[in-house]
Amino acid sequence: MVKVLVSSCLVGNKVRYNASCLSIPEPELHWLKSNVDLVVFCPEVSAGLPTPRAPAEIITGKGVDVLDGLANVVGNDGIDVTTPFVSGAENALELCQKQQIKYAVLAEGSPSCGSSKIYDGTFNGIKIDGSGVATALLERNGIKVYSQHTIAKLQSTLEKQS
Ligand code: SF4
Repeated sequence: MVKVLVSSCLVGNKVRYNASCLSIPEPELHWLKSNVDLVVFCPEVSAGLPTPRAPAEIITGKGVDVLDGLANVVGNDGIDVTTPFVSGAENALELCQKQQIKYAVLAEGSPSCGSSKIYDGTFNGIKIDGSGVATALLERNGIKVYSQHTIAKLQSTLEKQS
């Protein structure tokens, strides 16, 4: 079966900043469990960040800007967490490269895992178009990243290949 990296918080692990988890809609989760080999991973926890932790946002820019040294990731406590966020992204890429993973389903909106939306850096709950740091690094290296809301697109891609 094709291996797919999946955000740990999407499969019930309470590793988000507030020690909660998210979920994948049941039909899509069932399809994933039946058709792919899920490799569960949390970039932020892999980099040694604690749970719970301060919510963090990219200031000011997107994941690609953090990778290029043009923006930072900062917690709402004012602490700069750019280094662990980049380490977490590198850990995700290393895992994908070791296991020849070409697809990922990552949690939308996260400064690490978001793939089409992230928060704007003001901590006011405002979302902007853009991807998180881990997603940006994976995509830069040819890995296709989907979110819990776009699993149908992954399904379509994999079905075309089979
Ligand atoms: Fe979930 Fe990704 Fe945040 Fe970890 S870094 S809690 S996997 S969204």
